[in-house]
Amino acid sequence: MSLSPVAGVGKARRGLHMITWGCQMNVYDSARMTDVLRPLGYTPVDNPADADMVILNTCHIRDRAAEKVFSELGRLRVIKDERRAEGRETVLAVAGCVAQAEGEQILKRAPYVDIVLGPQTYHRLPEMVARAARAGGSVIDTDFPAEQKFDFLPQDAAPQTAGNVSAFLTVQEGCDKFCSFCVVPYTRGAEASRPVVSVLAEARRMVAGGVREITLLGQNVNAYHGEGPDGGVWGLARLAYALAEIPGLDRIRYMTSHPRDMDDALIMAHRDLPALMPFLHLPVQSGSDSILKAMNRGHTADDYRRLVDRLREARPDLALSSDFIVGHPGETDEDFEATMRLIGDVGFALAYSFKYSVRPGTPAAGAPLQVAETVKDQRLQALQALLREQQDDFNGSVVDRVAPVLFTGRGRKPGQMVGRSPWLQAVHVDGSDDLVGTVCPVLITTRLSNSLAGHLIEECALA
Ligand code: SAM
Ligand code: SF4
Repeated sequence: MSLSPVAGVGKARRGLHMITWGCQMNVYDSARMTDVLRPLGYTPVDNPADADMVILNTCHIRDRAAEKVFSELGRLRVIKDERRAEGRETVLAVAGCVAQAEGEQILKRAPYVDIVLGPQTYHRLPEMVARAARAGGSVIDTDFPAEQKFDFLPQDAAPQTAGNVSAFLTVQEGCDKFCSFCVVPYTRGAEASRPVVSVLAEARRMVAGGVREITLLGQNVNAYHGEGPDGGVWGLARLAYALAEIPGLDRIRYMTSHPRDMDDALIMAHRDLPALMPFLHLPVQSGSDSILKAMNRGHTADDYRRLVDRLREARPDLALSSDFIVGHPGETDEDFEATMRLIGDVGFALAYSFKYSVRPGTPAAGAPLQVAETVKDQRLQALQALLREQQDDFNGSVVDRVAPVLFTGRGRKPGQMVGRSPWLQAVHVDGSDDLVGTVCPVLITTRLSNSLAGHLIEECALA
């Protein structure tokens, strides 16, 4: 491969095309990779054919992840070859959890890939680009380095969030819980939290750039235990209280939480902090105690019910969302019925549900009593029908009510603006661009299939 030199950083303008699959943490990582490449002259472009560098940021959580990556790489190779025929080189990088899990395998099957990097090493991207250019070969970096990538991000601003009203901020990564079905502990590594000072500094930069809502991210965000400015260990609740002090930060959310880490302090933070939105993603996965045990989740269905009761006592308007897996090895009809009962008892505003998918190397992959695909299909259908009904009911329950909406941008139709309710519902109103970045009371009048519509009930001045 012959790349133009990158040592004279910031000189030539280069196109960067980012393809992001998977969770919000990948969205955050893609934004940060864009930030670290900016000083080399890379700016985002929409079309891979215009890109001097394409990064495929991958997800390994469910089925056929690697196959999907190779098929996308095949497509990108064609573009790379076409550009080369025109005398233009393209750096092709594979990032994220598939890169971590497959490593060398990617370079064996797709030798035209220039860089393979794991989720913990994206701060080293500029160095990898330079190494790939110098060596004229491929570079692989899937370490779990001792240094924290967050310490190496550009500190002067949060360029990728500039102009956004709502932004993600990763505060915790990795997982030590080893659920039977999950690859995250293997691809993202051990649980680690960013220091409080670094999180608060990034949040302040985001707010200075116009962000009004921050969603704190982590594979187990409520297991957060960052080093505080006082030298002590701060939990997520304490971090939330500190964030709530930042002038201009109207809304705080966090995801994804584990029921086991939902401590008293965090429940009380929901009672005390108006900025902490009354919407919580709290995956339960199953409502059957024996499946929860087989999953190594460390709680029972009743523990979850009690936790929800306590949360709702602290914050009566709290709505819940969750993740469910159907067809985990050993799941019987009775186990599945127990999940349906739990859903009926709790009532979810939103949910994500999946058929169990074998992840090689995880404990459940080799477990006996794998469930037939047809059974998984039937269970998923029944589960999703119930969850859809609950979601519709929940969305219907806000009709004829006034809700504060944080406006984030234009809607699809001319003259239409869109924002989010406290419960993460998209809300459309007729209005002007001045609304963006403000929280305005909206009378919700209509429930549409995946959003709400309403009208402003008072003039909203620019915040
Ligand atoms: N840490 C979060 C928790 O404990 O709930 C979940 C993080 S995981 C990235 C997101 C979701 O993917 C999980 O909640 C689970 O429902 C789903 N998931 C993970 N592994 C899966 C598998 N092997 N098959 C199907 N769904 C899976
Ligand atoms: Fe995966 Fe379980 Fe860790 Fe969540 S808690 S990331 S499901 S191992």
